[in-house]
Amino acid sequence: MNHIRKTAFGYSTQCNIKCDHCVAAEDGHGHIKMNLSRARDIIDEMAAANVRAISFTVGEPILFINDILSLVRLCNKHGIYSRIVSNGFWAKTPIQADKIISELKISGLSQLRLSYSRWHQAHINRENILTAAVSCQKFGLDYFISFVTDFSNTDDAFEQFLKDSRLKYFPEPLLYFGRAQEFNRSQVFTDYPPHLCDMNPILSPELDMYACCDAGNRFAETNFFYLGNAKEYTINELFEKYEQHPLFNLIKTMGLSNIASFIGLKASEIVRYRKCELCAKLFNSSKNLKHLETAVESGLEFWKR
Ligand code: SF4
Ligand code: SF4
Repeated sequence: MNHIRKTAFGYSTQCNIKCDHCVAAEDGHGHIKMNLSRARDIIDEMAAANVRAISFTVGEPILFINDILSLVRLCNKHGIYSRIVSNGFWAKTPIQADKIISELKISGLSQLRLSYSRWHQAHINRENILTAAVSCQKFGLDYFISFVTDFSNTDDAFEQFLKDSRLKYFPEPLLYFGRAQEFNRSQVFTDYPPHLCDMNPILSPELDMYACCDAGNRFAETNFFYLGNAKEYTINELFEKYEQHPLFNLIKTMGLSNIASFIGLKASEIVRYRKCELCAKLFNSSKNLKHLETAVESGLEFWKR
């Protein structure tokens, strides 16, 4: 298990495009941005709390390039690994891409993660992703492409473009949250996956911290992932809550399939769920959550081989 403290950092919810699958789309908070000096204070506090990696995500961070450069420099000063997740809108030409990438490199950014999918590419030319990646290679900035897919054949041509361009990419399952909630599910063939999840906490622009950056505030029935607000708790206290939560630890170590089996789901039912949907079945149901909270005290952790 990874004990390094790391977090996603939502500096702003603002994005310049509107992807049909966006998980952040239906939060109803509009465009919120953190105050820059508050964000700097939070990063100082994170450094003191031994947070070792920060990923600037949520919305499109490069819309606030000067602020983000200042935050990346601060991470660098503290020796914190920094990553930016971007849709690549700024890489229209090699000159434009080189300008941004060279600034990020000089500021000490550790890695750029470029988002790519048939939904992103309805708004951003896929050549932007290639141009951004080539610029990363030129300036020696580590990058990878997050290829969001529903694993349908429709995505094969999108994947082929990455292969043909010899770019470093990793498939990322589409999350059926936010706007994608109503999408048809393509059939996925697999055996009985353990569905372990590393989880990754996130700090929102309102300074709310959640234990999962993908689901965050989307488990509305139970608010299962909510840890608290950084105005009321120190960053260290919020991480302690995250680290000491017995069910979060079981999601990481025991996996969702075993937890589902413990509460009585049949194997034939478990394999029909995708990971995050199984997670919602278990933890966004007051009844199941109550059952599991009681079970933590009386044997859930021993429900393993
Ligand atoms: S680029 Fe990301 S944040 Fe922006 S709309 Fe698309 S999925 Fe949402
Ligand atoms: S499995 Fe659960 S904890 Fe992991 S990313 Fe999905 S919703 Fe979040």
